[in-house]
This record gives sequence, structure tokens and C-alpha cells, in this order.
Amino acid sequence: MFEKIGNSTIYKNLNLSKNLMHSYLFYSSDRELNNIIALFFAKTLLCDKHISCGECPACRQFDAHTHPDLTIINQDTVKVEDISKIINKLNTKPISAEKKVFVILNAETINEISQNKLLKSLEEPNPSNIFIMTTTKTDKILNTVMSRLNKIYLPYPDNNDKKIFANELNKTGIDISKYLDTNFSLTEMINLSSNTNYQAIIDNIYMIFEKLNTTADIPNIVNSINLSDKSTFFMHFQDIILSAIKDDYKKYARNLIDIINAKFPKKALLKSLPLIEDAYKKQSSNVNFFYILDNLLFNMLKEKFLCK
Ligand SMILES: [Zn+2]
Repeated sequence: MFEKIGNSTIYKNLNLSKNLMHSYLFYSSDRELNNIIALFFAKTLLCDKHISCGECPACRQFDAHTHPDLTIINQDTVKVEDISKIINKLNTKPISAEKKVFVILNAETINEISQNKLLKSLEEPNPSNIFIMTTTKTDKILNTVMSRLNKIYLPYPDNNDKKIFANELNKTGIDISKYLDTNFSLTEMINLSSNTNYQAIIDNIYMIFEKLNTTADIPNIVNSINLSDKSTFFMHFQDIILSAIKDDYKKYARNLIDIINAKFPKKALLKSLPLIEDAYKKQSSNVNFFYILDNLLFNMLKEKFLCK
């Protein structure tokens, strides 16, 4: 994968091929974006043609995670052993590429001891080594380490970039196409895509507002709820109502936001916010979900009629 990312606006603007440095830190609030760009850059460096062609032996080894000159550290918490693994390899010669590439994803998870170990190799760079790190939290990286890194801030991807990334991610079985017209970050899109329950929650909330006209509709609505996991329902409900209040179409489909605004005046929606908060709290203290929802919808309708 990662054949097309070089055509993205973000990557083109980075101009990384000029004056190769020995250490890079890619950072932004979007973890997936940082990691996609960092891995693509690593692949480009190792590719026989330096274009991340996807076809040469080096690219094939990269894709199979078997490239002898590539070390990727990607764990939730980077352990001292992982850094030792890097340090042991620092003074060896590259095997098939011109450079050895060390990629440390999510560097904010490296503890201070390991960062200090790493610092030595950053202070005395070996010309055959290139370090590529990513982080969402630059404040979690020691100042001494930060000062040794070429810091590259990644801007928010434009729609064209998002499509390119989506196509590339698709090759790894991650389908984010549903969220392309939203304002979610790549990290959020990937999390949502792997959460099959999320779409069910959205569908159920749409059903509620489609059917909800009078209190007589409530029993039928409550009976029609079809959700295997209800734990995040009120959280999404609240977020959707907030989007409706702000006429914000970035996160949710336009028809969902529109149907809510068509049925409830903004004033009633505002008055519903504490009611939803209350529903959320009740669910946390194990009150029956259907009872809470029944109550919430009844009180929302009450607010609506009080607004008239
Ligand atoms: Zn290649």
C-alpha cells in the first residue's frame, strides 16, 4: 500500500526529497495522518527508485515488513527494550538500501529513560541512519530530544488528500469512505469505521426523529430501537443535537441534522441538552435504557410545546 500518497497535497508541500536530514518528527493532532505520512516517507527512502513505486524488491519488502534496513517501533507504549533494539542496530551498515530507516510511531509513549537513551544517537548522528518519529503530543517529548529533531507540522488534509488516503487505506481493508464528507480526523474516521455499532446508533437516532411527532409515538419508537450496544447512545445523541443546534453538517449526514431541526425549534433543543445529560447520567447508574429514552423523548416534546 501507500503508492498514491505521494500525490497528496500535504506530501507534495513537504518537499522532503530536498536536503535529507537525519531525523524527522511528523506531528499534528491526527495520529493516523502522522503515521501514514511517516511510513510513506520511510517507504520512499527505501524504494529502489525513491518514489515508493510499490513494485521494486525494496517496496515489496517494505509491504511485507521484511525490509532488512527498516525498523518500525509501533506499540501503545514503547519499552526500553524497543529502544535497545534500535541502539543495537545503529552502528551496523545498511544491508540493501543506502540508509537504515528507524520509524518510531506515536513517540509520546516513550518514557523518559528511553528518550534519554535515544538522545545519544540523535546527538551523534550516523550518516547511514535516518530517524522518523511521529507524535500527537509534542509536550510529551523531552526538550533535549525535540531540539535534535526536524519538526514537521502536518496540516489538515484537504478533500482530495482524504480521498487519496481513503483509497490507500482501502487496500489494507479499512474503509473510511462513509466519512469522507465529514470533518472527522483520519483517526476518528478509522475508529468509527471499525465500530459497526456507530452506524446503528445513527440509524436509530434518525428513526426516532422521523417518527417522533406526539407523545403517542413514543411507545412505538422505543419498541423499534434495535441496538446491540447502547452504552454510547446518549453520548452520540447529545453530539448530534449539538450539531443540529449549530446547523453543523460536518460530522453527521445533512438529512439527520435537517430532520431534527424540522421537528424541534432551536430553543427546545437547547432546553433538551440538560435532559440528555441527565439521561446519560442515569444510564451510567444502570437505570433501564428504554425507561430513560421514553422519559427523555417525553420531556423533549414537552419542551417543544412549551416553546410554542
Ligand atoms: Zn519501489
